[in-house]
Amino acid sequence: MKLAVKIRLFSSLFMLVLVLLVNMSIYYLFHTMSLDRELDDLNMQMNEMVETLNDNPSISQNEMLDAFLPTEGMIRVIDEDGSYVIQVMNANYTELPANYVTSETSSIIAQSDQPDFATVAKPIIWENGDVVTLQVYKQLTSHTSTMETLFYVLVVASLIMLIPTIVAGIFLSRFITKPVQELTAAMKENTAYGNWKKINAADQSKDELYEMKVTFNRMIDYLRENFEKQEMFVSDASHELKTPISIVKSYSQLMKRRGAEKPELIQESSEAIESQADRMQKLVEQMLLLAKNKDREVYEPFNIVELCRSAAETFKGAYDREILFNTTAEMIQVNGSYDQLQQVVYILMDNAVKYSEDAVALSVLKNERSVEVKVADNGHGIPEVEQEKIFDRFYRIDKSRSRETGGTGLGLSIAKVIIEAHGGTIHVSSTTGKGSTFTLKLPISQEH
Ligand code: ADP
Repeated sequence: MKLAVKIRLFSSLFMLVLVLLVNMSIYYLFHTMSLDRELDDLNMQMNEMVETLNDNPSISQNEMLDAFLPTEGMIRVIDEDGSYVIQVMNANYTELPANYVTSETSSIIAQSDQPDFATVAKPIIWENGDVVTLQVYKQLTSHTSTMETLFYVLVVASLIMLIPTIVAGIFLSRFITKPVQELTAAMKENTAYGNWKKINAADQSKDELYEMKVTFNRMIDYLRENFEKQEMFVSDASHELKTPISIVKSYSQLMKRRGAEKPELIQESSEAIESQADRMQKLVEQMLLLAKNKDREVYEPFNIVELCRSAAETFKGAYDREILFNTTAEMIQVNGSYDQLQQVVYILMDNAVKYSEDAVALSVLKNERSVEVKVADNGHGIPEVEQEKIFDRFYRIDKSRSRETGGTGLGLSIAKVIIEAHGGTIHVSSTTGKGSTFTLKLPISQEH
């Protein structure tokens, strides 16, 4: 069943039940109150009758009771044996039950084919000294017709009340289902044609449906951005792998063609193939690293000064190069992944060593809420126009030079992904010919 039909059905049914309950209560209340009033009237009439009988013993009881006879009714005087002493009526009501009573009673005698009767019975002392029952019956013709009219009025009122409910249900269902339908149509179009279709979210009302549309549009933007990045990555990666593959291919063809007559070519070719295989291996490893570092690792507080000090020691041991280390504090806690941040420092140190010849300085500076890690070299520097681009994947300023140094163009993009995941920033300041300084800024951990 469609959502719109469900909403309409539910709201109409709900209103129908509500209207029926209210109208049934009105009907029942009116019915009881009206019957009570009829019985009260009859009781009053009975008392008047008894008073008149007692006050005027000289007047014939038959005539007197005739005078009190209701328009549609009957009066009976019943003795102890159940036989009628007097019975006056203005139609044939002899079928109505008679009761000899010892105390005052009142009741309704229900009839299936004609209006009901109200009856009151009271014991009185008759002229011969016997205790008899005076019973008055009144047919409730006007009450029945009033109740009938009320019934039809309430049925019509219920139907009239249902009309606005049905109309409201239609509007409500349209209001709710329209954005859902738009959303479904956009999703169908997106999956069928690979589009990035968004929906119109220009409504004034800032309700949940508006929120749903805005969230959907944001999700489409996010998916599109990621998809395009992924696509770009795949095309960049395949482009980067193409060169070493074609070098490997041409060297192996050379070996096949001329290896037999020129054995020294075999040595040269296998060396070139090996170096290209190494390069491909490094590229693949770094690509995997980049993909992996997008996932957040478990973060815990640790001393970044220690991390930098040990990185400086490692580089000092590995390269024949002066590495200067200085810090403004001995203990600066940051919250993060030790391995990932160590990798970032290694990337910056590695670049500094690769792209300069002199000493490299690694310093740690403590600010009020953040810590700065600086890696400075006196190398050939980075031109200003390139400074933003070097953080892009596979971007290298001087491709041939960086290939010589074994660069892949992925190091700084890996560093950027990691630092941003840690809530930090990375930037470079550099002057061509004088050197570069890379600065990492990370928030200090508040846990101690
Ligand atoms: P690569 O593997 O090529 O070093 P990176 O992403 O680490 O890749 O660096 C991108 C480019 O930025 C490098 O190719 C290089 O041209 C430039 N670069 C990075 N660090 C330095 C530096 N300290 N001095 C000069 N150029 C640098």
